[in-house]
Amino acid sequence: MPDTNIVRLIREQANIVEVVSAYVRLTPSGKNYKALCPFHQEKTPSFYVSPEKGLWHCFGCNAGGDVIDFVQRIEGLTFTEAIAKLSRQLGIRWQPSPATRREEWARERLLQLNQWAVEFYERVLWASEIGEKARQYLFQRQISTATARMFRLGYAPAAWDVLVKESQEAGFQINELLQSGLAQKTREGQGLIDRFRDRLIFPIFNPQGEPIGFGGRVLGDGEPKYLNTPETPLFQKRKVLYALNLARNAIREKGEAILVEGYMDAISLHQAGFTNTVATMGTALNTDTVQILKRYTNRIVIAYDRDSAGLNAAMRSADLFRMHELEVRFVDLPEGSDPDSFVREFGAVGFRELLERAESLTKFRVTWLVRSHPKPSPEGLQAAVRLLASVTDPIEQKSCLQLLAEEWSGGQPERIGALEQALHRALLQYMRQQRQPSQTTKSTFPDPIATSLASSSVIPQGIMQAERDLMAAMVQDKECARKILSMISPDEFLLSRHQELARLVSACLEDESFADLPALVAELGDEDLRQTLSGLLLSDLSFLSARNALEDRIQRLRRYKLEQIARHQRAELLRKMATGQISPDDPTFKVWQETLKALKTQSKVGV
Ligand SMILES: [Zn+2]
Repeated sequence: MPDTNIVRLIREQANIVEVVSAYVRLTPSGKNYKALCPFHQEKTPSFYVSPEKGLWHCFGCNAGGDVIDFVQRIEGLTFTEAIAKLSRQLGIRWQPSPATRREEWARERLLQLNQWAVEFYERVLWASEIGEKARQYLFQRQISTATARMFRLGYAPAAWDVLVKESQEAGFQINELLQSGLAQKTREGQGLIDRFRDRLIFPIFNPQGEPIGFGGRVLGDGEPKYLNTPETPLFQKRKVLYALNLARNAIREKGEAILVEGYMDAISLHQAGFTNTVATMGTALNTDTVQILKRYTNRIVIAYDRDSAGLNAAMRSADLFRMHELEVRFVDLPEGSDPDSFVREFGAVGFRELLERAESLTKFRVTWLVRSHPKPSPEGLQAAVRLLASVTDPIEQKSCLQLLAEEWSGGQPERIGALEQALHRALLQYMRQQRQPSQTTKSTFPDPIATSLASSSVIPQGIMQAERDLMAAMVQDKECARKILSMISPDEFLLSRHQELARLVSACLEDESFADLPALVAELGDEDLRQTLSGLLLSDLSFLSARNALEDRIQRLRRYKLEQIARHQRAELLRKMATGQISPDDPTFKVWQETLKALKTQSKVGV
């Protein structure tokens, strides 16, 4: 991390409007400037820059931050690189601290070694006789020379330590070889051997095109079929998307990314013209990869094989997608084929058709279910009910149910209604059964706020907006902040990131550093928090002109919370009654009554 001094200096001296203007056409809008966002596809501007606060934010894709964040993101630079660039531009003389320099140097050396290895493996593949085997393999897989060159494919010879020896001759040290993962110690622990032997090599690049790791595929029968660079300072598997360096511009242009699972799938699709394809690295989609993708688009199409574990995981990732406001569709590949084999057999035209028929998550799950249960048999109903119960969003659950009824109706519309009812009944019964074993006789209520409101998706739009308004007023206006925090405690906010920011504001009020809140954006380590704060700082506050604007919103939040609790308690009561586990003096009654009373008082106080 560069010294905080230089970060402060840059923030003070850089004119954010000037810096951003070099990339984006800004037009004035009140105190701020707006533009079409350079980080996602849009037709009306939702990208704002505030010269006063030194911040920018896009309300479309939720990217945001300070001037350093902007340069980092638009130029694809590391933090240190962005600092170096800006300080050069501003004529600030910057001497990185020794620790920063050491860190940078080590990173630089690893990159150099990887770069050297990319060229070494390429040389073996193309120029030597021993590369013939790998060239044959590429030929069989119909990978053209141009494509292989573009992906910088290579071949690791079937020898023990060729790379180890040659790289040392080129000036690299043993500890660097070990750290890069290109070499490993022998089992006896004395010598060094090459990690990749007799394998086709897929260099892995970061979005900026720097080689951070390698994947190797056996050419014979050996095991494992694929081998990757272990975790290194440069390479963290769960944060890597293969081919993103080649795909990122196409993803932005097309407004969509195609997600596949293997190196060969990505390469074949690029060769067939689907240049917006990236591959996950063996691991399922996770928050890290989703966040990386979100920088380029919020629409993805998943094209995983039918029998892959990744597909199953993706089908269970509805929450992940919703939380990141991703629009996800699924390609239905035929049994036994993967994108690579499919495109070889049916060409780009065939794959394009598949893409066009890609289905939403809900529809895709129903398709799967109906495929294995073509009729509403007892087993089919059971599977359907399990599927429906796993869909947490009520609207999605309903559309899933309707779709199932439709599919099972066998083209007889008069049957749909009855099927819907049957499904609905079965679902209710299932939920009742599910709840029973987990409930103890004690009347403890799980905190619905903690359990069901972890993401904004299940909270009604209006309530969410009320909370956002309060947060925006709190971070932008000191008087509002005081007032709000005197009426509501940080823990009462629904979203955990809002709770966290409210606590931060409260601390800033206490130590008189409220004015520095915009500067804090740079210091928050968590990207999600940073973006939330930059968004709130640039949000519109015109709602404040209404009478009791703040009180009204706090009421709405409280009321919503109470309603959730009351609903929970009522369900608990009904369940106890249904199972006859209730006595007249059961505390649940009293608790419920109290909640209802509180709700009534609330409505009276309210507007
Ligand atoms: Zn945007």
